[in-house]
This record gives sequence, structure tokens and C-alpha cells, in this order.
Amino acid sequence: MIKVAKFGGSSVANAEQFRKVKSIVKADDERRFVVVSASGKRFDGDNKLTDLLLLVNAHLEYHVDCTTLLKDIEQRFVDIRDELGLKYPIEEKFEEFSSVIKSLSPEYIVSRGEWFTGRLMAEYLGIPFLDAADVIVFHHDGTVDMERTATYVRDAVARLGTFVLPGFYGSTVDGTVKLFERGGGDITGAILARCLDAGLYENWTDVSGFMAADPRIVDEPRSIHRITFDEMRELSYMGASVLQEEAIFPVREVGIPIQIKNTNDPEARGTVIRETAAEREREHLITGIAGKKDFMSVHIQKAHMSNSVGFLKRALAIFERYGVSVEHVPTGVDSFGVVVNGADVKDSIYSITSDLQHELKPDSISVIDKLALISVVGRNMSRRAGTSGRIFGVLGEAGINIRMITQSSKEISIILGVNNDDFKRAIGVIYENFVANEMVTAENADR
Ligand code: ASP
Repeated sequence: MIKVAKFGGSSVANAEQFRKVKSIVKADDERRFVVVSASGKRFDGDNKLTDLLLLVNAHLEYHVDCTTLLKDIEQRFVDIRDELGLKYPIEEKFEEFSSVIKSLSPEYIVSRGEWFTGRLMAEYLGIPFLDAADVIVFHHDGTVDMERTATYVRDAVARLGTFVLPGFYGSTVDGTVKLFERGGGDITGAILARCLDAGLYENWTDVSGFMAADPRIVDEPRSIHRITFDEMRELSYMGASVLQEEAIFPVREVGIPIQIKNTNDPEARGTVIRETAAEREREHLITGIAGKKDFMSVHIQKAHMSNSVGFLKRALAIFERYGVSVEHVPTGVDSFGVVVNGADVKDSIYSITSDLQHELKPDSISVIDKLALISVVGRNMSRRAGTSGRIFGVLGEAGINIRMITQSSKEISIILGVNNDDFKRAIGVIYENFVANEMVTAENADR
């Protein structure tokens, strides 16, 4: 089986992390294709190289001298090289780069973070370096040209057999370096896995996969060992981010699973993400809980609305007019709410409500702000009746007012709106009752 092993910024932050990567790669012959991010934070308060390179661009834009900044960046690479006893001529290559820096594009400059990290990693692992600009190709519209990329990747495999590929960038048809979004090294790994028809895409980071709740809210939450792509999307969208969201698409379409692993604890099982999870006899009811604060719900009421065709469409068109993306639309017979991200309507909420008033002439409009949304996610909920009732029950007993409820169409999540102030407590109560208490009975569920 072919495995693509992608290592994030914290996994390649310094020489010590490089050593961990080497022992991971060497422990498994199937790990022949390695993708790296730019060296990340070495300690709390440190800077990622990508952020420093973005800062270089800002200096250049405003004609501020950045010699010291460039020296600091160079030193990070020199330190790794010297500590590992490598030979790569960083000083010389960095001089070549910085002497012409004013003529380089901002994206090219930022891409050097992964480029130099990749160079060092390739020498350290004793395998060839493959420049992402030579294989990852973008269309003019900014999407990846999968066909061409796959051809170039396969050629490279035939030529080199194994390689280190820097993540986060590729090139356009005319050879100009182009970046993915932030965190895009995960996307490179997924594209490579797809082009190689890999059996597994390993994503090595600094946490042991997804947790059933945010560890800042719940003490030592349970790790999620198996999760579906849909469940992961729900949790990530609501703030549980471990993987760049776009990274799942290239592998998902062709059925390659992703495994999240911890470079600092390689024995930990991590999380495997697949299209479907085979049913087991004993399964957790709830896979995970995630949430975000500061939503706003615009509630519209009008008698006989249910008989008036197009009413909802007209209301949503007003939000569209202001470029506001709508998160949820819980509906009643003669009323509905439009839930949006508070930050998105910060400047437009008065105009939106006044347009709604004029154009729809509703009986009433009210706005609930400081609304937190909590998504309770579990593929098994659809098979067991009464879950939502039990969730409402425990929240009610805890005196937490539920301000909104919706369920995703595949019934894999229940989304609850509560006041911002009740956010943490609500997550704690749901976790206590549905995850922590279940642990004893479902102990073997993942074995
Ligand atoms: N180095 C890039 C970033 O910090 C990409 C990545 O780490 O995946 O966003």
C-alpha cells in the first residue's frame, strides 16, 4: 500500500522535530512520499516561518528594510541544518533568494518557507526533493488541474521512486508560483495521495486527532478514533479544526481515508476519517460536540405566511443583497428565523431589517443576538430514537434555555442555539450526559 505522510509546521519546527519525523518515516516502508509544511512555532509565542515571510512581503510593500527579518528566517534553517549535521548550503541559497527579493512575487517569497524546509528534510531522510512548482499545476481560475498534476506526479514517481514534496504551493500554467489558502499543506498532501492512488493519507500534526469536545471546555475529552467525512465537516465547520477543510475533497472523491496522527505521540491511534464507518455492535451515540459563539437570528412572523408562495425566497434575497451568508433557516408555520454569523451583519443589520420590513411587511421582526450554536454530531443518532428529546431534557434540567433547534438533513447532527453566556455550560452538560457517562458502556466500541 502507498501511504502519503504529510507533516505540519509544528512537526518540522526544529531539529528535534525533524528527528521524530525521520523515525516515523523510517518505521514504515510504505511511507515513501512525504509532504512538509514550512517550519512552524517551536514554542509558545514563537512565529511560524510562513507568518514571518508574509511580514517580509509587508516590509517590501512599504519599502521598510527587512534585512534583520531575513537573517532571522535564514538562521532558523541554519540551526536545523547544523544540529542535524546536514550539508545543504543554506547561506548560499538564501543569499541567491534575498539578493533578488524585490523582483520576486509575494507568493513566491512565502512559498520559500516550505521549499527550504523540504530541502532540509529531503537531505535528512536521504531521499530526493521534488519541487511542488514542477508538479502541482493550477488552472487559470485558481483550481488545481488534476489531470496534469497526476501526470507530472506519476512521471516523478517513475523517475525518483520516493520524494519529499513541499506543501502549500504549486504553479500556474505559465510557471508562476501560486499558493493554496493558509494551512494548504494539507491540501497538497490530499492531492498527492489522490494522484498516487494511495491507500492512506496520513496527516501528522501535534494533536492525537479529533476530540469529542474542545479540551478548553471539557477536561480530557475522549479522542475520536473513527469519524465519517460528513461528521468531520460538521465538527470542523463549528470550530473543531484539525485539518484544512478543503483537504478532504481530493481524497474523499476517490475513497482514500485520512488518518490524523500525532508526531509527538506516534503510538496514539489518532483519528481515521472515511466516507462511511462500518457499523459495529457497540457504537458511541455521539461522535463529537463543537460550537461557536456570536451568531444572530432574525426572526420574522407573518400570519398566513405558509400560504404565500415565495415569501421565504424574498427574505433570503435581502440577505444575499448584503452579501451575507445564511447559516440556518429554522421554520415554523407562520414564522421563520434566519441565522447568520454576527460578524457578517455587523454593519448591515439595520439595513437588512429595514428592507425586510418594507418589502415583506411582516407582522413582526425580532433580532436575537449573542446566540451560540452547538452542533451535536453523531452518525448513530439517526438509528436511535429520542436523542434530541434527551438532549433537550438535560439542558432543561440545567436551566439552559434553548433558543433554536435544527437538524441536518442526513440526521447526523442536531444544532442547538443557546445564549452566548450558556455556551460552555451547555457543552459541558451534553458531554457529561452523553459522552462521559457512555464511556463505561461503550468502552470497547472502537476496538
Ligand atoms: N505554511 C502554511 C501556513 O502556515 C501552510 C501549511 O502549514 O500547511 O499556512
